[in-house]
Amino acid sequence: MMEIDQPNYRFCPFCGSALVTRMEEDRERRYCAKCDWTYYPRVAASVSAIICDDRHVLLVKRRRNPFKGTWMFPSGFVDLGEHPDEALSREIKEETGLALQRSHLLGVFQSEDDPREYGHFVFFYTVAVSRGAIQTDPSENEDIRWFAIEAVNESVEIAWKLHKHFMEELRSGRLASLVPKDTWMQ
Ligand SMILES: [Zn+2]
Repeated sequence: MMEIDQPNYRFCPFCGSALVTRMEEDRERRYCAKCDWTYYPRVAASVSAIICDDRHVLLVKRRRNPFKGTWMFPSGFVDLGEHPDEALSREIKEETGLALQRSHLLGVFQSEDDPREYGHFVFFYTVAVSRGAIQTDPSENEDIRWFAIEAVNESVEIAWKLHKHFMEELRSGRLASLVPKDTWMQ
């Protein structure tokens, strides 16, 4: 389990009263006595898409911090009410211009290095997409490119720890053996 400092919210988001701390099941909770509202810390979720074509992988270059200027698998946060599968399809469309055909969930991982949402769950997928011209969302990314997997070396700085890990898995060939062949773009 990760140790994460919870945000020290001071005011109730509904009525603006000062929150107080009270004990609930042996845990300290921030509480509004006026609304009877309790703040329960919880984690966010994001999706990441490993999109490969033969021996190439599709990466986008971040325009914003954190990790501005580094490359990553197309990714994004899950919106309120969205299922991760829906978020995956939406993010791929937004960040690559391509349409998701099939996806395979590799697993759910915990992000350790995103200061926006420490400890958020990352749903990592391998994805098959329909062929087409790639185009990324210029407000989020400054570039999008197919890389030969072998060419992703020290000169291509990868963003998050989890992305570094999966790029290494991809490069070593370990990942290919973990997923059915039909999850890859044909
Ligand atoms: Zn309140």
